[in-house]
Amino acid sequence: MICPKCEAEYVKGITVCPDCGVELIPKEKYEGHLVHPSDWITIYTTDASFEADMLKANLEGAGIETMILSQKDQNFPVTGDLAVIKVMVKKVNADAAMTILNDINKKDSEDTVS
Ligand SMILES: [Zn+2]
Repeated sequence: MICPKCEAEYVKGITVCPDCGVELIPKEKYEGHLVHPSDWITIYTTDASFEADMLKANLEGAGIETMILSQKDQNFPVTGDLAVIKVMVKKVNADAAMTILNDINKKDSEDTVS
């Protein structure tokens, strides 16, 4: 069982997180369905959705859960920032994701040269 708020894990039998007062849920369910913004970190921003999609495919191919956040889909004003698509991964995967990101960028520049 896991607390959806603080992510603390508990043994069977405990149903409420003593720290948060939140009802615990099975860990599998938590990992499968819930998204907590505080657990995610933006590793890349772009205004090209194909680029975000490509990155997501690469990261997920490497087993890293990836989320694309597009402000274009939403009705809030963009404050002078054209890079409105965010590619996000979980903080625990940030380092691995950045490595992959750097590899992709390296390959891109190599392709451009050749
Ligand atoms: Zn908790």
